Amino acid sequence: MALSGIQIYKMLPQTNCKECGFPTCLAFAMKLAAKQVELDDCPYVTEESKQQLAESAAPPIRLITLKARDHEVAVGNEVVLFRHEKKFFNRPGVLIRVVDTAEEAAITEKVAAASAYSVDYVGLDLRLDGFVIEAASGDPAAFATAVGAVRASSGLPVVLKSDDPAVIEAGLKVLEGEKPLLLGANSGNWEAMADLAKQGETALGVMGGTLEELAELTEKIQATGVEDMVLYPTASAMGASLAMQTQIRRLALKNFRPLGYPTIAFAGDGGNPARESTLAAHAICKYAGFVVVDTFAPELIYPILVLRENIYTDPQKPIQVLPAVYEINDPKPGDPVLVTTNFSITYFSVANEVEGSGLSAWLLVTDAEGMSVLTAWAAGKFDAESIAKAVKEFGIADKLEKHVIVLPGHTAVLSGELEEELPDWEVKVGPREAVDLPGYMKTVLT
Ligand code: SF4
Repeated sequence: MALSGIQIYKMLPQTNCKECGFPTCLAFAMKLAAKQVELDDCPYVTEESKQQLAESAAPPIRLITLKARDHEVAVGNEVVLFRHEKKFFNRPGVLIRVVDTAEEAAITEKVAAASAYSVDYVGLDLRLDGFVIEAASGDPAAFATAVGAVRASSGLPVVLKSDDPAVIEAGLKVLEGEKPLLLGANSGNWEAMADLAKQGETALGVMGGTLEELAELTEKIQATGVEDMVLYPTASAMGASLAMQTQIRRLALKNFRPLGYPTIAFAGDGGNPARESTLAAHAICKYAGFVVVDTFAPELIYPILVLRENIYTDPQKPIQVLPAVYEINDPKPGDPVLVTTNFSITYFSVANEVEGSGLSAWLLVTDAEGMSVLTAWAAGKFDAESIAKAVKEFGIADKLEKHVIVLPGHTAVLSGELEEELPDWEVKVGPREAVDLPGYMKTVLT
């Protein structure tokens, strides 16, 4: 059971040394009880207390990892209901389902295309995480053939889906050395499925139409020694699925251990391909650990992956690029230096406009803690001093014949101060919007 703040406080040193960043041990204990800090933040907890606190400090949703040749995907370890309370930690794995009744060539084609799919999104490489192979045939040999076809065309992790232990066993044999998910155990087969999971040292998916059914099964399976489980609430209607996923998360966060596992959601189970992306979106937001779609099409997958990226970034930390000098279109010593901040979207807006125009430039990206230009300027994180510091730190002057530096138009007010900070430079004020940069460079800088 979770410990209260007072119970945790009694196990802390009670010296109020403040090294954890809180003024008192009691304040730290309250935050620890709310799972908003880590126990390691206090360097003085005794080993004995650490052990006692382990259950309270452990994430209420078990971390489950699927592994294959080219990739591994870890889900779970979540500690909050809403991302603004802290953040969501592990992105849900997005998987594509194939069925073993399809032609082998069709499986190969779908899997190879999905496995190779990659899209650049503000400097991030977005990809799919693996496949669910479903035994629609009920035939172990056909299932093993389908698993072999998937493995021959992709090195991504897989979920083996059947309620027949003999079928799962046949698929498992094809995946020697891997950590797939076996899906799934139900009230009729759980003992045989648990045996397979133990033999293969794999995670086991547990299926149930109600919370009671799921909790009862996980307790029985855990008693056999299987620790790694994934819950498959089988409600397929959108409202019922949303309710079950939310209740599982709520109960898990209250440390109800029988439901303290990540979940899997099948967006295709609604029986309506047109609504697949909607169902996948709601599964990403609320609160699936794995999201399975049947249709592989870039126009369906792209928004799902982008949504996942946005939901699973830390809301308190903007996506950033590294402060540095970036070379655009192979710049020469006579080219100008454009300045911007390290907020990813700001960086890519500027870089993409200049790169797309074919013009060359040095792009100086300052450390503004991931804020956009105007926000950083208002917060005192983007000023003449920080720009001059970046110029010196990255040694950009040594690469240039002409020392021309261009400020973003919104910060024209900095030009005088920057001239004082960089007396050997010609300071110019660029346009307010990135889209106007190519025109500005052609007319003003040449
Ligand atoms: S670091 Fe530990 S001992 Fe010091 S105030 Fe924080 S909880 Fe108390």
